[in-house]
Amino acid sequence: MMAGDNNAEMLDPQTFGNAETAPFWLAAAEGRLLIKRCVACSAHHWYPRTHCPHCGSGSTKWVEASGMGTIYTFTVLRRGGGKVPCYVTLDEGISIFTNIVDCDPDEIAIGQRVRVQFRDETEGVTIPVFVLEKGA
Ligand SMILES: [Zn+2]
Repeated sequence: MMAGDNNAEMLDPQTFGNAETAPFWLAAAEGRLLIKRCVACSAHHWYPRTHCPHCGSGSTKWVEASGMGTIYTFTVLRRGGGKVPCYVTLDEGISIFTNIVDCDPDEIAIGQRVRVQFRDETEGVTIPVFVLEKGA
């Protein structure tokens, strides 16, 4: 699957905050990154859905991601407040739209290794973001 293939949903509880994705946010609050995996075809998918986008099976389950990934593409906003919006391809093979934080934008490159971190945002919501994996 290529980035932009209908998976450009930002990690935002305003758009994600429904019953279907509640486990994702509960896990994030505990510092765990959950993604969906299809029981029928074993493919991971993003964003979380009840039916597998690959084979259409309704048998999907939550699994914990490694939290490691690679920068697929990114956009440097000079006024982004230290956040760089980007797609990260997780080691599980799915690309998610997220932010790189705490970085010098000049250090960011496609293919660079990143690691998930969790940030407390407003209203008690914890958001997964990514930081550069130093020394990788
Ligand atoms: Zn499937």
